[in-house]
Amino acid sequence: MSAAYLAKLNPNQRRAVEHGVGCGAAAGGPLLVIAGAGSGKTNALAHRVAHLIVNGVDPRRVLLLTFSRRAASEMTRRVERIAIEAMGAKAAAMIEALTWAGTFHAIGARLLRDYAHVIGVDPAFTIHDREDSADLMNLVRHELGFSKTQSRFPTKGTCLAIYSRAVNAEAPLSDVLGAVYPWCAGWEAELRELFASYVVAKQRQNVLDYDDLLLYWAQMVAEPKLAEEIGSAFDHVFVDEYQDTNRLQASILLALKPDGHGLTVVGDDAQSIYSFRAATVRNILDFPGQFQPPAEIVTLAQNYRSTQPILAAANSVIGLAAERFAKTLWSERRSADRPELVTVRDEIEQARYVVEKVLENREAGGALKAQAVLFRASHHSGPIEVELTRRNIPFMKFGGLKFLDAAHVKDLLAVLRWAQNPRDRVVGFRVVQLLAGVGPSTAAKALDEVAAAGGAFDALAAFKPPARALEDWPAFVDLLMRLHGDKAGWPAEIEAIRRWYEPHLDRLHEDAIVRQGDLLQLEQIAAGYPSRERFLTELTLDPPDATSDEAGAPLRDEDYLILSTIHSAKGQEWTSVFVLNVVDGCIPSDLGTGASAEIEEERRLLYVAMTRAKDRLCLVTPQRFFTHGQSPQGDRHVYASRTRFLPAGILGAFEIRAWPAAAKPQDGRAERTPRIQIDIGARMRGMWR
Ligand code: ATP
Ligand code: MG
Repeated sequence: MSAAYLAKLNPNQRRAVEHGVGCGAAAGGPLLVIAGAGSGKTNALAHRVAHLIVNGVDPRRVLLLTFSRRAASEMTRRVERIAIEAMGAKAAAMIEALTWAGTFHAIGARLLRDYAHVIGVDPAFTIHDREDSADLMNLVRHELGFSKTQSRFPTKGTCLAIYSRAVNAEAPLSDVLGAVYPWCAGWEAELRELFASYVVAKQRQNVLDYDDLLLYWAQMVAEPKLAEEIGSAFDHVFVDEYQDTNRLQASILLALKPDGHGLTVVGDDAQSIYSFRAATVRNILDFPGQFQPPAEIVTLAQNYRSTQPILAAANSVIGLAAERFAKTLWSERRSADRPELVTVRDEIEQARYVVEKVLENREAGGALKAQAVLFRASHHSGPIEVELTRRNIPFMKFGGLKFLDAAHVKDLLAVLRWAQNPRDRVVGFRVVQLLAGVGPSTAAKALDEVAAAGGAFDALAAFKPPARALEDWPAFVDLLMRLHGDKAGWPAEIEAIRRWYEPHLDRLHEDAIVRQGDLLQLEQIAAGYPSRERFLTELTLDPPDATSDEAGAPLRDEDYLILSTIHSAKGQEWTSVFVLNVVDGCIPSDLGTGASAEIEEERRLLYVAMTRAKDRLCLVTPQRFFTHGQSPQGDRHVYASRTRFLPAGILGAFEIRAWPAAAKPQDGRAERTPRIQIDIGARMRGMWR
């Protein structure tokens, strides 16, 4: 029987979809789909999953690894659509069973909880986000006296970045220091000591950081018995965006599926953009040769996403890459419109221009949702957020400042997390200091009591707080004990915490009323999760996106513009795409070391941004832009020139213009003009938070 859904695919996609549809040995050998942007890799992957399910593979035995939670749920929806088309309504129940879909980190967290008892981990562990991890690193650093005696010791953030890089790249510390953090190389011995103590501190407090989720998983499956048990629980393992995985992730996959049977990975080396998180493009390039016989390779050449002129411009950008595994992408989608390259005076004008165009597109019948504004770094969207807010245009921001980063939301969650794991000192420290009159030294003493009692909150009942906190203390201890004993129940306990927290909120924040709205929203979000533990895990790993709407996230059927960092736009597509700040200093960023490998990654980043567009693409180059913080001179305006990735030779692919019309478009002459410091605006700073 040839299913109708197969007929929609091209022959190579179909080859990938039909490659080994059984289980065990019949699952087919390892398969690599490597192809350019928009060529239907993710689509083929979704069809393959659906095809397997239609052909009797048990959806509970399918593991689907994606790069974000959003990507996982989109993939599941696509699979569902295809399966329903093939089998009718009964497919819906089968897709419900497709629960092993998520990021490596989320799946790792789940497996670690399931296997905690086997590997000697207390299953009540909590997960530290990057900020918590940096705080703990800081605490340990202070304890070791590194920061006090040695004033030029790397910051907590740098320490964490070095640690994380070494873990994820499975690389010796000296290599990481030499290659990426040469200015910290003199501290190698101290860093080694710091990291050792950091690991001990995490274990004592029963917390795992992001890296641990992969590291523990990798350690777990390094044990052949466990690898066999977990690996054989899945007939098929799929990974999308494989070019952005790191060595730990590759070793986990190999341990789960040593002979590669039932393993399908998909990606594009030209879109590898996560080396700063230790991802390595070698994973995808070396994949076929890891197996005997080698993996089957499927390539795809037709781009179904973009019009030919957009594709031609993107191809010309990536065509200049120093190293490239040539792919020829073509599109049948004809159009007379070349992508635009627009010069504007500064970022304020850039924001105005883009918003004008967005509204024009909407007038012409295009929804806001079909349009996206992309940028290199989260803070680049400041002026456009202001402009959108001023003009009352709803938007949703991906990869930006998260709702969960707001102090009051973190406070409430900290209480919940502490109740889950009383040994977690970072959250405990935060929680105890919410009470009036309690400072760091009292908090530390209270935490010591809890720790001495083996993580029991009862110990707090006998604790004598400072006079100002005396009155609040009994209710506080009572709350913690009730939460820890699961007395309030899920999700009612969130409400219990909010009620307890409200008087403190009033004391701590002038705008308590606004913040209360956020807490109510948090309660609603929580109600969507089956348990406290799932809620905390998923929120820590993949927080909801920030929105322009104070009343909460826009509803699914509302129309809103997408703002996104380029990194977070991976794998997605929109009818119209605007890319901001296509100037040297932004793309490529001038915060890197300038090494050629880094510059090449920035080129790929521009390629990723451009290939998100279906029908219209607009790159904007402000003549001045605002550099953020980290340069030695601090915040400042600089003159900017068009990115070096668009040299004169390829400008023919673009429609070049200036806005407003009187402004002078940049010619193809200067590749890099000297920067001149002209202004430090306190007014602007407010805009950048
Ligand atoms: P990226 O590299 O950006 O992740 P991709 O290779 O994963 O891209 P998809 O997102 O799967 O590409 O597909 C791009 C677009 O092309 C989607 O809108 C998809 O529906 C469409 N598409 C994919 N395959 C086909 C096909 N055989 N016929 C028609 N449209 C297709
Ligand atoms: Mg994709």
